Amino acid sequence: RVVDIETFSLEDASSEQTLRPDAWSEYIGQEQIKKNLSVFIEASKKRDEALDHVLFYGPPGLGKTTLALIIANEMNSNIKVTAAPMIEKSGDLAAILTNLEEGDILFIDEIHRLSPAVEEILYSSMEDYRIDIIIGSGPAAQTVKIDLPRFTLIGATTRAGMLSNPLRDRFGMSFRMNFYSHDELAEIIKQASAKLEREIVHEAALEIAKRSRGTPRIALRLLRRVRDFAEVADEEHIHHQRTQYALDELGINSHGFDEMDLRLLKLLASSNGRPMGLSTIAAALSEDEGTVEDVLEPYLIANGYLERTAKGRRATRATYDVLNMNNINEDGT
Ligand code: ADP
Repeated sequence: RVVDIETFSLEDASSEQTLRPDAWSEYIGQEQIKKNLSVFIEASKKRDEALDHVLFYGPPGLGKTTLALIIANEMNSNIKVTAAPMIEKSGDLAAILTNLEEGDILFIDEIHRLSPAVEEILYSSMEDYRIDIIIGSGPAAQTVKIDLPRFTLIGATTRAGMLSNPLRDRFGMSFRMNFYSHDELAEIIKQASAKLEREIVHEAALEIAKRSRGTPRIALRLLRRVRDFAEVADEEHIHHQRTQYALDELGINSHGFDEMDLRLLKLLASSNGRPMGLSTIAAALSEDEGTVEDVLEPYLIANGYLERTAKGRRATRATYDVLNMNNINEDGT
């Protein structure tokens, strides 16, 4: 089971809602995606047609759900938000689909986790806006065709590689989400601080940004914790020094690694340069393979701290440097 790297308290979950941007102007970064999407949205509005189906893929917390909500807002459409694990049987999906109205958006998170039977129904609904439902069983079984309104499916997944080809082919657009730069994250943090009514100085925002694994969700979570420190200290603004202190207290390393990243890097570094298989890594960390692959690795690979080879994963020179260890790779590099 793929689990999000963070677990949220109820308070965090509801404040995530309040901090969520609902317009393009508040959605920082991912410039290429924003640019393309606005063209496609504009075009389909002009033609008065439903937007083509959209797929977003990339690690958790990078803003996929938020984009879906903004699209709905821009299209003036209703949006129904669900996640694949909640759609167990084909009947569940049929019920959702037949309740949609013309132009509605259906957002399915973790879309790679749909069962084959449910996926099958999705194909025909995406392509022909029609589903075939089998009623009864055995010789008395009957197929009933149901026409659906023109709707837009927005799918999100942490692993595009796990989507079946027929499903992937039915999305008219697919976008890969990128990690955010420190400046972009600082901007997101400042915007959220303003909404939380406790301003943050630029340096402090940048300090949080640097420790957020390129991920807005983590940046916002750290901001809330730092804000707690500032609140207790009775400071009106969030200053750099308080931020540094809070982040150190929280044990957040200045490279943005969390404890799990460090455990993974140390594990790889301990193998003397021999590549390690995914299942070995997952077992050693007591994590499932999906979490290692979707949540932990992408950030480390993007920043050059982990390398995937045909034989497995291995540490890089940067890994040894950051761990202050001597670099002893098999091939002498
Ligand atoms: P995902 O669906 O990819 O897991 P979310 O859309 O739930 O990620 O985003 C996680 C949090 O980060 C939300 O609270 C959202 O407000 C914030 N966020 C994500 N991307 C951005 C962005 N580009 N600009 C501002 N806030 C963002």
